[in-house]
Amino acid sequence: MDLAKVFKQLKKTSEETGQASYLVGGYVRDLLLGKELRKDLDLVVEGSGLAFAKAFDKQLKEAGRLIEFPDFDTARYLLPFSETEQLELEFAGARSEAYRSTSRKPKVEPATLEKDLARRDFTINAMAVPVAVFAKAKSPSKATIVKNIVDPFGGQADLKEKIIRTPLDPNVTFSDDPLRMLRAVRFAAQLGFTIDKKTLEAIYTNRERIKIVSAERLQEELLKLLATKESSIGLILMFQTHLMDIILPEVSNLDGVEDVYGHQHKNNLVHSFKVVDNVGERTDKTWLRLAGLLHDIGKPGTKKFVPKIGWTFHGHEHLGKKMVYAIAKRFKFSKDLTEYLAKLVRWHLQPISLMDEGITDSAVRRLIVTMGDKINDLLILGRSDITTGNPFKKERRLKNYDKLEKRVAEVLERDKLRAFQSPVRGEEIMKVCGLKPGPTVGKIKEAIEEAILDGKIPNDYEPAFKYFQKIKDGYLKDAAEWEKVC
Ligand code: ATP
Repeated sequence: MDLAKVFKQLKKTSEETGQASYLVGGYVRDLLLGKELRKDLDLVVEGSGLAFAKAFDKQLKEAGRLIEFPDFDTARYLLPFSETEQLELEFAGARSEAYRSTSRKPKVEPATLEKDLARRDFTINAMAVPVAVFAKAKSPSKATIVKNIVDPFGGQADLKEKIIRTPLDPNVTFSDDPLRMLRAVRFAAQLGFTIDKKTLEAIYTNRERIKIVSAERLQEELLKLLATKESSIGLILMFQTHLMDIILPEVSNLDGVEDVYGHQHKNNLVHSFKVVDNVGERTDKTWLRLAGLLHDIGKPGTKKFVPKIGWTFHGHEHLGKKMVYAIAKRFKFSKDLTEYLAKLVRWHLQPISLMDEGITDSAVRRLIVTMGDKINDLLILGRSDITTGNPFKKERRLKNYDKLEKRVAEVLERDKLRAFQSPVRGEEIMKVCGLKPGPTVGKIKEAIEEAILDGKIPNDYEPAFKYFQKIKDGYLKDAAEWEKVC
């Protein structure tokens, strides 16, 4: 579907219904920033959004899908755009909103376009361009857009100055809908903008209001922030405004440097933010960036100063894993995301330990089997965890890390360990030994797996079966004796 055709039809619908229509929000913002045009368009119309969308649907002779939200008098329209993408139009009538202190759900009333723009989060998102402008020219020039734009709060100037600012008093904007505070830090990271001083102060003042935002929305915004290129910009803002203390106190607690007899440890908050950015340079995976943010959360609770050794954080990976479960519950993370984070936090030290203790094939195999399909993500996290400021040390560590990665790739290729389990399966063990399902079968299977991981035998059926025949009697004898005792 051609965008120009959509705009032409929108204009026609406007003329026939007598309802003026405007593009607003992210589409206008990104257009002025010269960004790639988006496939989701927000439209504000005079009068009923739903009625306009219905008329548009009726007139457009294309295979689109209208999704109606009669409770809100809004609608979504989905149109195939290319083989992989679809165009998403959101229709809403111009409206004003009145909030109660206990909820993010406002009382909505029809209003002028200006009032509608005033209820929006930031000036850079509170601009509207009449649809007719887009219907005339396929891609109107910036001058044409500027000539026709409705910009009552100085959004264009703020775009130029790279400033995030609320259209109205920020204390009202944030108190009305506290999610906007997280949107502010996310936009700052996403666009590389600074938050206006008053707006920033209002985030600090209203930070406690974030508690009324649902877990699902918090999760969504956190992941959106982590999807930005340099998430640390937003994370630092969250910390500075103390939003982090409320949403993720486990991360705030990483801050600080203790000194005992001149021995200091690194600031783990600064380190963790750096790790998130390092991960971000290597992959778009937001889950992995979140693992980077949380990987050291067990450190404050395990920190100890040991004379002659210095600062230690023994067991922080175990404590960190436990803490991940508590965080996941609070944010209502999916089971998959929870298990993913728990696994990465639990094992994040392993690549570095391997480098320190010697990279043996056996240790590499164990790591591969433990991590399964998350091995590559763990390797990215481990590499991102090398943040030492000492350039010589850093170079040495990274070189060693190259070796580790090469070894992992070799072992993966050679030993076919991706979905590892004993080549001699449980059923065969039971058949050969005349056993019923029970612990002895598991023990024999585990012994075969251990032998493969230790490199005593290759990961193939023949040698595994031979090994099984060699060891089985010992296990059967043990089992028989155990039965006698019982
Ligand atoms: P992105 O899609 O990159 O998040 P966007 O600006 O398009 O950016 P949407 O969440 O799609 O963001 O919202 C569309 C528009 O609706 C915004 O530009 C803004 O004008 C308005 N908006 C969205 N959420 C809020 C909110 N919580 N408070 C006020 N206005 C909002």
